[in-house]
Amino acid sequence: MAAHQEKKPPEERKRKSTPNDTGTSQAQWGRAWEVDWFSLASILFLLMFAPLIVYYFVMSCDQYQCSLVDPLLDLLMGKKHLSDIWDKTPTLTYRAASIYTLWVAFQVVLYVFIPDFCHKFLPGYVGGVQEGAVTPAGAVNKYEVNGLQAWIITHVLWFANAYYFHFFSPTIIFDNWIPLLWCANILGYAVSTFAMIKSYFFPTNAKDCKFTGNFFYDYMMGIEFNPRIGKWFDFKLFFNGRPGIVAWTLINLSYAAEQQERYGQVTNSMILVNVLQGIYVLDFFWNEAWYLKTIDICHDHFGWYLGWGDCVWLPYLYTLQGLYLVYHPVQLGTANAIGILMLGLIGYYIFRTTNHQKDLFRRTNGNCKIWGKKPEYIECSYMSVDGTKYYSKLLTSGFWGWARHFNYTGDLMGSLAYCLACGFEHILPYFYIVYMTILLTHRCIRDEHRCFSKYGKDWKRYTAAVPYRLIPGIF
Ligand code: NDP
Repeated sequence: MAAHQEKKPPEERKRKSTPNDTGTSQAQWGRAWEVDWFSLASILFLLMFAPLIVYYFVMSCDQYQCSLVDPLLDLLMGKKHLSDIWDKTPTLTYRAASIYTLWVAFQVVLYVFIPDFCHKFLPGYVGGVQEGAVTPAGAVNKYEVNGLQAWIITHVLWFANAYYFHFFSPTIIFDNWIPLLWCANILGYAVSTFAMIKSYFFPTNAKDCKFTGNFFYDYMMGIEFNPRIGKWFDFKLFFNGRPGIVAWTLINLSYAAEQQERYGQVTNSMILVNVLQGIYVLDFFWNEAWYLKTIDICHDHFGWYLGWGDCVWLPYLYTLQGLYLVYHPVQLGTANAIGILMLGLIGYYIFRTTNHQKDLFRRTNGNCKIWGKKPEYIECSYMSVDGTKYYSKLLTSGFWGWARHFNYTGDLMGSLAYCLACGFEHILPYFYIVYMTILLTHRCIRDEHRCFSKYGKDWKRYTAAVPYRLIPGIF
């Protein structure tokens, strides 16, 4: 690895103390130790049906022009049998397996073997070796942040090979979409199963493992907190960030190329979806160091939820708008296109500014300005399992004074914009906003539950100071 900057996070001070210092069981924060019936039922439902849901969406575009209702009607009215639909579904091919293997191997090489150089010449970009947050066991992991570089190299190679050397067609992803789905599933299941076995036999940090005793819950939500191979291959950062998110923009480009091939033009709705989702993806990589402090990395354990979800759910369902527009090319009126663009950009502004305010506040330990003023905050404390007491702060000004998760509100506005770009003929493109609303609302509740067990009465003071979650005055 190249020379790296290594910094101690300034946001949290610690001192040794006895576990009963706070009078709460705050050392228990982190993922659940016990499984309630509702969680177990949801998990069993997802394990059984999530792969079918992904298949159903992709199949309905392939065989039914993106109608979600027609396949059901055909089956219910006896016009078709399940076997008819299955027989028309493309199978796993040698070509798709080769493309997918090459793709994942290339992303592993970019992640593990090419230290970040972008931070050396891009002003304001934070890359190279960075520290994550303190884990429940009190560990602080180091990460090689080189996602932006991986994204740039991949996209340069894509354009060069698809449009200059003509090694492959720019529609290659669309052309192999269903065969690639089988490959993504194989990887998703393989990595989740490997992570489970690894947590029993050779965990990276045994103190950060959580065993509930329920096989399904542990498989889905993960046991190990930060599984790694060697010093640098971190499962969570790799599978969350690449290969799915690097692929996201390529998948959309492939859809745009397919539109061009079919209809001789790329519609403004397709351009909008490519641009707005492109901004979201680039934002992710530009802020990858910040991403180390988000719930996915700081709080979630690595199981099927992240492993399979990142390999299959994300690339297949987050890109449904582009897929839909291949089958239904929507040309928006100028006013509608501008309105949707504005909604997307304002949503992005709120999302980014809110995330930035928290990041700045935490990085500087409150020695910064939020909207030109000294930040307002609530002092809080928590304890790791070894009894070390840490101090932290919860911001209560800027967007964080409007609602406790205003970043999610901005994200939801952006998500709605992608869907609206597809018009109102079908419900399939609206799956994304429905899913994001459920995901982020559930995340609010899950996060607040965890923060309450972490900060105890300090969290109560915070929720009294900022009473709303997503929409001020309403929720
Ligand atoms: P946040 O970035 O909001 O992080 C929540 C954590 O921040 C809490 O657990 C707490 O952690 C800390 N925190 C909470 N309130 C405050 C406060 N007032 N001041 C300082 N710190 C606080 O949530 P996520 O990690 O879920 O989301 C990050 C972004 O990613 C969001 O914008 C979200 O929209 C987006 N996202 C997108 C998804 C997608 O699929 N497209 C999926 C999930 C998220 P601590 O323990 O450090 O105090």
